[in-house]
Amino acid sequence: MTLDEKAWQAARTRIDAAARAAGRDPSTVRLVAVSKTRSADDVRAAHAMGQREFAENYVQEAQAKRAALAGLAGVRWRLIGPLQSNKAAVAAEVFDAVESVDRAKIAERLSAARAADRPPLEVLVQVNISGEATKSGVDPGGAVALARLVAALPRLRLAGFMGIAEPTRDPDRQRAQFAILRACLERARAEGLDVATLSMGMSDDMESAIAEGATELRLGTALFGPRPVKTPA
Ligand SMILES: *Cc1c(COP(=O)(O)O)cnc(C)c1O
Repeated sequence: MTLDEKAWQAARTRIDAAARAAGRDPSTVRLVAVSKTRSADDVRAAHAMGQREFAENYVQEAQAKRAALAGLAGVRWRLIGPLQSNKAAVAAEVFDAVESVDRAKIAERLSAARAADRPPLEVLVQVNISGEATKSGVDPGGAVALARLVAALPRLRLAGFMGIAEPTRDPDRQRAQFAILRACLERARAEGLDVATLSMGMSDDMESAIAEGATELRLGTALFGPRPVKTPA
């Protein structure tokens, strides 16, 4: 299967327009391709178009894809799905970045398992910005404390925060939730933490996220088309 290059161009056009509307330089918004459920061939095709950052939700799926694509230069794998502590050691090996760190135990296990001959694992603290009980992420009130803990761990490099807005079409609600994540970044900076990444915005809410300062978008369907209904375990 070949990728629809027009979809990628359309996504880039949306990002550029939203950035300009917000008075921002489009190059300050990094595009991460969410490749969960997509084949290794899809990733290869995206790589041929210049894409380097890919995100996955499941440790095992990413492990298999990474192995299948070992020869592909410059690819970076990011974990964006919930992480169980018994998978943390494998995750520390498979990924270049973990965006879903939401408790101390996970951070500690990732740091303990990260190999000494690799760069420190990039970490984002996931914050529950929608307030939905079913969603993962630390409460906004605990986000900076967890970030401080991550920053102090030897084999992790704290980069910033990640959040997922509730699935609503209401741009005001989207923006209000993304503003919570931005406030976490600002508080962390005020405390002297070296953080710059705001990973927020998906295919259906990227404009709101960019308006609230997103520096990273995680796009799946906007790039690859609709996902199959069932996701592999
Ligand atoms: C699946 C997923 C995405 C991508 O969602 P799309 O709506 O397909 O763009 C982004 N972030 C997370 C955490 C996801 O699980």
